[in-house]
Amino acid sequence: MKILVLLLGLVLGSAFAGYAVPRVQVQLSVEPTTQAFTCRYTFALPAGDTTTVLRLNLRKAFRVQRVQGGRAIVQTRRLYYPYFADTMQQVVARYPAGRQARMLTLDYTGTLDKERTTAAQVLEFSGHTNWLPFRHLQEYEVVEYALGVRVPAGYQVRSTSPPLGAKPGYFRFEGRACALELTAIIAPQFWQAVASRGPAIAVVKAGAALSPMEAAILPKAQDIVAFYNRTIGRQDSITRFTVLLTGTKQDAFAVLENATVITYADNFDVAQRGDLLTLAHEISHKWWGYGSVHDETDWLNEAFATYSSMLYLQARGDTAGYRQNYEKLAKTTPNTPPIIGFDRTKYESGMYRRVVYNKGMVVLAALHAHVGTQQLYTILARTAAQQVSTTSAFLGVVGQVAGAETRTWLQARLSE
Ligand SMILES: [Zn+2]
Repeated sequence: MKILVLLLGLVLGSAFAGYAVPRVQVQLSVEPTTQAFTCRYTFALPAGDTTTVLRLNLRKAFRVQRVQGGRAIVQTRRLYYPYFADTMQQVVARYPAGRQARMLTLDYTGTLDKERTTAAQVLEFSGHTNWLPFRHLQEYEVVEYALGVRVPAGYQVRSTSPPLGAKPGYFRFEGRACALELTAIIAPQFWQAVASRGPAIAVVKAGAALSPMEAAILPKAQDIVAFYNRTIGRQDSITRFTVLLTGTKQDAFAVLENATVITYADNFDVAQRGDLLTLAHEISHKWWGYGSVHDETDWLNEAFATYSSMLYLQARGDTAGYRQNYEKLAKTTPNTPPIIGFDRTKYESGMYRRVVYNKGMVVLAALHAHVGTQQLYTILARTAAQQVSTTSAFLGVVGQVAGAETRTWLQARLSE
C-alpha cells in the first residue's frame, strides 16, 4: 500500500506540474496616445502557505496609489536591485501568524518606455518591459494569472495565448507564466500567418502587415518545432506556439508559455544563420526555463537553449554552422570559473555570458561527444519533462540514462 501511494505520488507529481503556485490578477488600462497606463495587481499565495513576509518589487518610476494587504502591516522602502542595476521600490507586507489568506494588491500608474512603443502605435507590455511587480529575487517564479486589458475603441490586444473573451475595448487572458512574463501587445491592427497543418504555430505582427522576410519565420518555426518535438521535447511536445513581432526594439526573448517575443523592427531574417539560431534558441526555452537567473542554475536555461539551437543546425546538415558557432563561443571560455558555484555578482558583467551560455554549451557538446546523439536526446528529453531546476538534479538524470561513470565525469567538467 505504501508503495502504491508512493508510486501514485510520483506519477501524479510528474504528470501534472499542477503544484500550487501563487495566483496573480492584473487589470491593465492603457492610453496609447500618451503611453500612460494604470494597473491593479493582486498577488495571492496558495492556500496554506503561511509565509509571514511578502515583498513585492516594482520599478521606482511607477507611482503607487494604493496598497491593500488585508491584516498585514505594510511598509514601502527603496532598495538597490543588482539584477536590473537599478533602485526599486519594495512593498513589504508582514502578516500575523495563522492560516488566513495572504494577498497583496497594488494600484499603480506609469508610462511605458519610449523604446517599447512604435510610430504605428504599438505598445509592448512584455517580459522585458518590466511593468509588473514581482517577489524579491523571484521574477521568474511560476504563477497562475488572469490578465484583463482595457484599451480605447479601435485598439486590439494580443498575448501568448488567444483571448478568452474580447468585448470591444476589453481583452481577457489566462495562463501559467513566470511572474514578469505576462504579455499584452497593443496595436490598432494585427496581421498573422498561421500553420495550416501540424502544431498550431502562428506568427503575429503588430501594427503592420508581415513582410516577406517576416512571413518566412513561419515555415522555419514549424521546422524547428518538428525537430524539437522528435528530440528534446518528445516527452512534452509543443502543440501550440506563437511568435509575436512588435517592431519595437532589437530584442528577442522567450516566455514559458509556448511563445517568443521578437521585437526587431523589420530586419529579423531567418535566412541568416544568426537569426535562425536565435529563433531556435528562443523556441527551445519552452523546455529550458526552470533555472534561476540569480545563480549557476541559469546554465540550465541558457546553455541548454544555446546548444539546442546548434543541435537543430547540425540536424539540418549545417555542420559548418555548428562548428563555426562552437568555435566562436568556445574561444571565450578559457580562464573562466567553474559552472558549479558560479556567482555572477563576483565578476564583471561579461563573465556571465562566457560561463552561463558559452562554457555551459561547451560542456554539453562534450557530453554529446561522450554519450552519442541518441543518448544525449534521451537525457535532454527527460531533463525537459522533469523541469529540472538544479545542476545536481541534472547530474541525476545523466546518471540514470548514461551511468555513474558519465555522471562523475560530467561533474568534474562542471567543476573545472
Ligand atoms: Zn536564452
